Amino acid sequence: MSASTIRKAKKLVENGGVEKIDDDLYQIKSSSDPNKSYFVTSDTCECPGFKNFYKFHHGKGLKANCSHLEAIRIFKEEK
Ligand SMILES: [Zn+2]
Repeated sequence: MSASTIRKAKKLVENGGVEKIDDDLYQIKSSSDPNKSYFVTSDTCECPGFKNFYKFHHGKGLKANCSHLEAIRIFKEEK
């Protein structure tokens, strides 16, 4: 995963952009548009980056990641 993804994820957590809604359901603010947010679980995300990952890497057995999924990981570690 790229360093910029991790940096973005840390920023989201630090700025309070991660909100726990339910067990394994989080609402995370978009880092590019503060008026937008995505519902994210520990392995899926609604954001275009996540969806595009599977479009571009379909069938390669890779697991998609994005700054939001990474933010959850950091969020959980800090709790
Ligand atoms: Zn995402």
